[in-house]
Amino acid sequence: MPKADRPAATDADFYLLDQTIEPEGRELLHRVREFMEKSVQPVINHYWTREEFPHDLLPGMRQLGIAGLAYSGYGCPGGGNLLDGMVAMELARVDPSIGTFFGVHSGLAMGSVYLCGSEEQRQRWLPAMARMDKIGAFGLTEPDVGSGAAGGLTTTARRDGGEWILDGQKKWIGNATFADYVIIWARSLEDGQVKGFVVEQGTPGFETSKMKDKIALRVVQNAHITLDGVRVPEENRLQRADSFADTAAVLRLTRAGVAWQATGCGRGAYEHALAYARQRQQFGRAIGGFQLVQDLLVRMLANITSSACLCARLSGLQQAGLAEDHHSALAKAFCTVRMRETVGWARELLGGNGILLENHVGRFVADSEAIYSYEGTREINTLIVGRAITGLSAFV
Ligand SMILES: Cc1cc2nc3c(=O)[nH]c(=O)nc-3n(C[C@H](O)[C@H](O)[C@H](O)COP(=O)(O)OP(=O)(O)OC[C@H]3O[C@@H](n4cnc5c(N)ncnc54)[C@H](O)[C@@H]3O)c2cc1C
Repeated sequence: MPKADRPAATDADFYLLDQTIEPEGRELLHRVREFMEKSVQPVINHYWTREEFPHDLLPGMRQLGIAGLAYSGYGCPGGGNLLDGMVAMELARVDPSIGTFFGVHSGLAMGSVYLCGSEEQRQRWLPAMARMDKIGAFGLTEPDVGSGAAGGLTTTARRDGGEWILDGQKKWIGNATFADYVIIWARSLEDGQVKGFVVEQGTPGFETSKMKDKIALRVVQNAHITLDGVRVPEENRLQRADSFADTAAVLRLTRAGVAWQATGCGRGAYEHALAYARQRQQFGRAIGGFQLVQDLLVRMLANITSSACLCARLSGLQQAGLAEDHHSALAKAFCTVRMRETVGWARELLGGNGILLENHVGRFVADSEAIYSYEGTREINTLIVGRAITGLSAFV
């Protein structure tokens, strides 16, 4: 490393958000970082290239005790929304696929049970999910129904005595190839409303096939699901999911988590770029000493700092019970746009080396494309905020 003119502020937590967390939470964040840097970073490109999930990393993740931080009771660690968000950032900072695997399990799947399950259902499913002994997935999107899920779901649920019969297809369902519990959202033929069902892996008529050749989040096992006369007992119907408004409550929670993930993805790329800028020599000096390179770095830092501060405030609103759909939607849209810019600038800063997987930034560039689109595209989240601020719905 060439001699610098002054000490470098290499910590990407530029506004010291870390200090707003209690010491116990900070200690947890450090353990998460250590796990991600020591156990995940060295091997993740191997799995990414092969489109495989690193099942052998699960015991280490279990030991962190981070599933269900946002919930209290039911065996969940209960650290609060801010800590939950900062953990999501830490995971994505090293690998967005691991961050997504975890977000699907702890956010979408556990969140569905926590927000939409009865007391008995929470007791039944959440403790094992909090221990990560059982893994969850969340099946909303269908081959022909993405953004329009609120009114357009075609998967049906027909009541037959004490059971429901599910028929239809789902697409993109993360973790579903190996998850123990897959939450399936389907339209009831009784009242036309969307309801949630916990389908256990191995239920007859429930088939998953892994989606291959993705260019993003290749470690995440996304599945195409076929439901052909799948019989689910009434006890597995989420008792507090009466309409899509209840599904939307889960998305309100998890979109905030995706905003944190996007911040982490940008932060990881920035940190790689900063380290590279300080050691890469051209024209006889570190490229970090060039004004145009500093311009890129400062733009990146501004993006991740503004995103993190926005997310922290959103977590505060969640904790206080004040967060509404449009709050999460604004953060998801804003942070993912900033993330996409940031990873692109990091790639640019690394020059040709930026497209080599071994330098990690290329993986962030690819993975950011999925984060940008899932859990509501920029357009859909914009429409949610637009409706809130004008009072006029522009959804067609
Ligand atoms: C890697 C990955 C993982 C995922 N994991 C899951 C999962 O675990 N569970 C799950 O249920 N789903 C999952 N999804 C699905 C994801 O939520 C959808 O991809 C997303 O909601 C967008 O739907 P779509 O891809 O069908 O795009 P479409 O809805 O077909 O949209 C295509 C384009 O049209 C635009 N558009 C659509 N409607 C409007 C409108 N009214 N006004 C303006 N523009 C509009 C969109 O913004 C987008 O740019 C995942 C997706 C990806 C890529």
